[in-house]
Amino acid sequence: MTGGCMCGAVRYEAPEPHAIVYCHCESCRKHTGAVVATLVGYIKNEIRWIGDERKIYLSSPDIKRGFCKKCGTPLTWEGHVKELGGDLIEVFISTTDNPDVLIPSFHIWHDERIKWFDIADDLPRYHGWAHDGSKPYSHGPILKGSIR
Ligand SMILES: [Zn+2]
Ligand SMILES: [Zn+2]
Repeated sequence: MTGGCMCGAVRYEAPEPHAIVYCHCESCRKHTGAVVATLVGYIKNEIRWIGDERKIYLSSPDIKRGFCKKCGTPLTWEGHVKELGGDLIEVFISTTDNPDVLIPSFHIWHDERIKWFDIADDLPRYHGWAHDGSKPYSHGPILKGSIR
């Protein structure tokens, strides 16, 4: 798997990801400017970075958000998740060179979604994190065709 920012200054190579998830949290939405962020997850050292070093913004004391300092493309969420075995790094799916083959499997932080937005899949939706023992509260859109 390969990818990079819009201008090509920051590039990366990575193996098969461990998880591909939709994240509806406000911080991911702010960082990307999108209605939902889709993240491709790795253990920190599995990604090999090439070219310019990404710039890091701390969105909270232990969460890093990486971006290209030349073109501004949001690239990563980086943080420590004990339940998943340590330091994780996730790249935003549309920075990969072939997002067609990376298919998400669930939605996290669905409670923070933009209220008129949902996706017509049957994937599990979690109120918050999925890996803290939580159970999904829905399998499929909760809006049922309504925008309210
Ligand atoms: Zn760039
Ligand atoms: Zn998020």
